[in-house]
Amino acid sequence: MTFTLPKIPYSYDSLSPYIDAKTMEIHHSKHHNAYTTNLNKAIEGTSLENKSIEEILKGFDMSNAALRNNGGGYYNHKLFWEILTPKSSKNPVGAIEEKINLTFGSFENFKEKFSQAAATQFGSGWAWLCVKSNGDIAICATPNQDNPLMPNIGCGGTPILGLDVWEHAYYLNYQNRRPDYINAFFNIINWEKVNELYQANS
Ligand code: MN
Repeated sequence: MTFTLPKIPYSYDSLSPYIDAKTMEIHHSKHHNAYTTNLNKAIEGTSLENKSIEEILKGFDMSNAALRNNGGGYYNHKLFWEILTPKSSKNPVGAIEEKINLTFGSFENFKEKFSQAAATQFGSGWAWLCVKSNGDIAICATPNQDNPLMPNIGCGGTPILGLDVWEHAYYLNYQNRRPDYINAFFNIINWEKVNELYQANS
């Protein structure tokens, strides 16, 4: 199986002013495209060729840097585009709304904890909301293109919300102001999709 660059279900300029069109275009057509191409190179001729990306990430040898970086990069960005939308409800909906309130006390508390995880991830990486195997949800951050599907990484479990805090995700518009980018992110979260992922994995 060959992985292909996922299409984004909204236009590059539609997340503006929260994420600008140029950043979206470069992020998707250059960065995500490169991860996709290099993932295909990393699995070519190996036993991983017929596996899904989730199967690959859950079971691979973490010393394989090409696979770790590009498999992670392919998966992480695919999820990222899915959980963004120009038509955000701004607040969680459905079962995930209840679960967030139950786990963190309130959406505001969740937002604070998630933002803190994203802001304090040193250098490049991601902040995540995950569903663990026992159904609990948890926040964590991981470096580079690692993610919690990988063995012994982050909070363990399936990511249902992720925020890219690599400089390539925000530097054109926000320069060094990562906290402003994190704040902006909360205006464009597709909570219906996050709820769907929560229900599928809990
Ligand atoms: Mn990125």
